[in-house]
Amino acid sequence: MALDSGGGVRGGREVSNFGGNVRFRPGRLAVPRSEAEVCRLVLEHRADGVRVAGSRHAWSPLIRTSGLLLDLRHLDAVRLYEEGGRVLVSVGGGCRISRLLAYLNDRGLTLPSVGLITEQTVAGAISTATHGSGRHSLSHYVQRVRLVHFDGGGGEVVVRWIDSGEELRAVRCSLGAMGVITEVVFAVVPQYRVQEQLVPAGTLPEVLRMESETPLQQFFLVPHLWRFYVQRRAETAEPGGRLTDQLYRLYWFLMMDIGLHLVVLLMAVFLRSRVLVRLFFSTLMPWTVVTSWRPIDRSDRQLVMEHELFRHVEEELFVRRSDLPSAMALVEDLLRVADDRTWRLSEASSEQLRRVGLLGDVSEIEGCWSHHYPICVRRVRVDDALISMSSGGSEDWYSISLINYQRESAEFWRFAGFVGAALMRIYGARPHWGKWFPEGELRLEHYPELGRFCELVRHCDPAGVFRRGFVGQLPGMSE
Ligand SMILES: Cc1cc2nc3c(=O)[nH]c(=O)nc-3n(C[C@H](O)[C@H](O)[C@H](O)COP(=O)(O)OP(=O)(O)OC[C@H]3O[C@@H](n4cnc5c(N)ncnc54)[C@H](O)[C@@H]3O)c2cc1C
Repeated sequence: MALDSGGGVRGGREVSNFGGNVRFRPGRLAVPRSEAEVCRLVLEHRADGVRVAGSRHAWSPLIRTSGLLLDLRHLDAVRLYEEGGRVLVSVGGGCRISRLLAYLNDRGLTLPSVGLITEQTVAGAISTATHGSGRHSLSHYVQRVRLVHFDGGGGEVVVRWIDSGEELRAVRCSLGAMGVITEVVFAVVPQYRVQEQLVPAGTLPEVLRMESETPLQQFFLVPHLWRFYVQRRAETAEPGGRLTDQLYRLYWFLMMDIGLHLVVLLMAVFLRSRVLVRLFFSTLMPWTVVTSWRPIDRSDRQLVMEHELFRHVEEELFVRRSDLPSAMALVEDLLRVADDRTWRLSEASSEQLRRVGLLGDVSEIEGCWSHHYPICVRRVRVDDALISMSSGGSEDWYSISLINYQRESAEFWRFAGFVGAALMRIYGARPHWGKWFPEGELRLEHYPELGRFCELVRHCDPAGVFRRGFVGQLPGMSE
């Protein structure tokens, strides 16, 4: 996306997201250099509608607008301060997480939680509750947000800090619907080290038992092998920095970040060979994993990967811990029947699908799709936010991700749509706001506090300037 370097405004250019599945031409695109300029632009364009884009990593069409699209890349100042014995960091909404982490690391500090990549902007990441594994989402750690929105009459722009109560819980994950976030304050923690070990596991109970020792772990269901690999992770007081730790980083980059992805691209995208995909995952992939290595590294290096190197699309759904065993069994069954039309669904899966009116539709996905990437599962603690995917209840939430490199494949969307519908109807699974999901399946019940969130949104923006398009169509938003 070519941008006007002087903070000027242009219209008519096509904007697309990381996955290339969202493309549109905003009426105007602006790159303001100050908060005052943000206010001026918002007021000037209130009749057209206003959305903000971060680094455009979301796969859901949240940033789509025919009105004004703001890019806050110049609002990226970082400032550290102490308050009531706590260290806080105040950061411009357009600052990239990678830049914030580098700034904090130089001062022996870091964020309490990070996602798989660090390319997102701070405001973009919290706006969809970006998460890692074993902790809360980033939204949970937000202490204060500086927001540009409208007054009660909808005619004047207001700028204020939101730092308590329901409004803070709402703005922590607000999809850009409450207004423009110009600054975010996080609680930060001392930098810490993480030890990791990649091990196979035959069953889900085995994987979950490991959590008590390695609470930051995430795990993968390997398609066509139908076994789990667990990336066991725990904080450690040991120093790390040994040659073997550094070699591991190189191994991970060459074998996983690059090698695995090149193989997937070759088999699934260029050759489109389902036979090779099956062969690779069922027999060759296990040989690429070194299970004896237990490297130690800084948290902001160990917990991330270079997953942004190759473009892909992703669907991610959150289920409660008590539903995880049954949900994973269903996902495996659906992956298998999509790969092999002669596969017979288990009694339990058939009964669940029948109950929600989907059993008759299984024929639409039979044999349509051989999945070509491990299914990643992460544990996210209950957030203190209104509508983050892991908000509410007392159980941990587990996210289940389907990642696809055949970005144009209609079969993948059909399959992902079916899996999304099944998990959302059977388990009340919540879709990640920043990832693709079957929009028609979303109900108010999926997010019990969505109704209250919508009321607070209307309070900040009575005329609906920030909720045109996708956000405006969410359940409860237009009432
Ligand atoms: C390769 C890759 C890996 C990923 N890994 C993870 C992961 O590990 N965990 C996870 O949870 N997610 C992950 N994501 C999803 C990603 O973290 C979210 O989609 C995130 O919202 C993207 O942030 P962004 O800065 O790109 O924002 P965008 O995608 O540009 O926007 C996302 C939302 O934020 C809003 N927004 C942005 N800036 C502002 C602002 N200043 N004020 C108000 N609203 C604003 C937008 O309006 C929109 O609603 C990944 C995505 C990719 C492409």
